[in-house]
Amino acid sequence: MRHRGKSNRMARSPLQRVQAERQALLDRLKSADGTPPAETRPIEAMEVVQQSVTKRVHAASRQVLAARLRALQHAEERIRQGTYGLCEICGDPIPPRRLEAVPEARVCVPCAEEAEARRHTFFPTVPR
Ligand SMILES: [Zn+2]
Repeated sequence: MRHRGKSNRMARSPLQRVQAERQALLDRLKSADGTPPAETRPIEAMEVVQQSVTKRVHAASRQVLAARLRALQHAEERIRQGTYGLCEICGDPIPPRRLEAVPEARVCVPCAEEAEARRHTFFPTVPR
């Protein structure tokens, strides 16, 4: 019998998702950080596209990456505290689909839209 008890519908836990995302960001930050595009190694088509994009948005993307990194670290803390997945503004649970798409999401969609409209940023200031 090859049937296993676990059918992994949700492939990864929120913590795993956040950590994987964070690792990916760290890797991207590292490669964007000081390391010039490697012209010595063979470059595939995908990479050429990525490089031109990287050049164009270099500074901006680094800032975005760093901000996301902080947000993901924050998300990890909230997972440990057991408050992950709750909107920081209205306290409602954030839909799992949103958390899958945006693991570092801190607010639900309505609150995010409102905050975005007001401040034109995804992340409102954290209430302390
Ligand atoms: Zn909300």
